[in-house]
Amino acid sequence: MFLFKKALFLAAAVVTLGLLSCQNRSNGAENIFFQSAFMMDTLIEIKVVSADRDEAQQAVKAALSRMEQIDRDMNRYNSKSLLSRINQQAGQTPLIIPPDLFAVLTHGKEWGDITQGAFDITTGAITRLWDFPGRNKPDNQTVQTNLSKVNYQLLQLDERNFSAFLPQTGMDLDLGGIAKGYAVDEAVRVLKEHGITQALVDAGGNMRALGGKDDDFPWKIGIQHPRQPKDLIGTIPLKDQAVSTSGDYERYFIQNGIRYHHIFDPQSGQPARGLISVTVISDTAETADILSTAVFVLGLKRGMNLVNSRPHTDALLITPDGKIITTPGFPLNGLDSKIAIFEHGEK
Ligand code: ADP
Ligand code: MG
Repeated sequence: MFLFKKALFLAAAVVTLGLLSCQNRSNGAENIFFQSAFMMDTLIEIKVVSADRDEAQQAVKAALSRMEQIDRDMNRYNSKSLLSRINQQAGQTPLIIPPDLFAVLTHGKEWGDITQGAFDITTGAITRLWDFPGRNKPDNQTVQTNLSKVNYQLLQLDERNFSAFLPQTGMDLDLGGIAKGYAVDEAVRVLKEHGITQALVDAGGNMRALGGKDDDFPWKIGIQHPRQPKDLIGTIPLKDQAVSTSGDYERYFIQNGIRYHHIFDPQSGQPARGLISVTVISDTAETADILSTAVFVLGLKRGMNLVNSRPHTDALLITPDGKIITTPGFPLNGLDSKIAIFEHGEK
């Protein structure tokens, strides 16, 4: 089910109500406020620690409304979104777009270069061929035809007039691997603007912590076992950092014993096969979101090389045979040794 499809969730129990709620804590005057919403095809959760209920409510409301705006502009499944209009105008005319969408597209292109095309925001020409709920996959011929429409380098971004243009009909932008992370960063920015100093924002497993849960304690994040949805492989502490997981168990179907999932290798047009789960910790949710998808596509060796080349970045990778491999600095607690073999990644 999409609602709970993601790999990360809070291990710490917090009262969860549909509307903004207030939970009195026994050890102080501060409260945790919580609100959830469904957008960007996933569950959004915002937790704010504050002594001021009104301030918290207003901050969360503003943060959610910013996320809604990003969803309206960047969701390719909404035919009226700006992103869809760029796609509809492919091969015809450029579209003038607001600075935030322009920035996300610019970052997408930059990360296409950094990942040598493993992360490609024009993968929409492939993703649109798949119907996961309907368990339908495209035939090889169609995949090959559409692969010729996948190339982020062709996306034209004109800084003079803030326009975006896909030069070929059939090209298709898909920001599914970046927009949720960007939205989380924006939500955190808005919360800060409203005076909030401690919060956790989660968009379907793309999370960012502002401060800790308490002055001294970080937020505690559970990392889901990729084959046993109710189990955690461990937890990580998070404070003023972001984390994102990409897994082959989030949107998939199994046919003739083969698992088909939603993270595609832009070289082959097929689901990437080298890993089954990738968790990345980084400074921003956008970077963590991009990197978890990119490392998933790159596989163990190239993925680890990429992570090791980036500052303030750690990762946990799970291979198809269940090995867990982390960067030396990855702060995993409580790893269940029954679940997997544990190794440090190559330097
Ligand atoms: P989720 O969307 O479940 O959070 P990810 O962050 O890993 O998972 O992003 C996967 C999404 O990114 C896909 O649903 C698709 O929209 C898009 N995508 C798939 N493959 C790629 C790729 N190679 N490069 C960029 N985006 C991709
Ligand atoms: Mg991602």
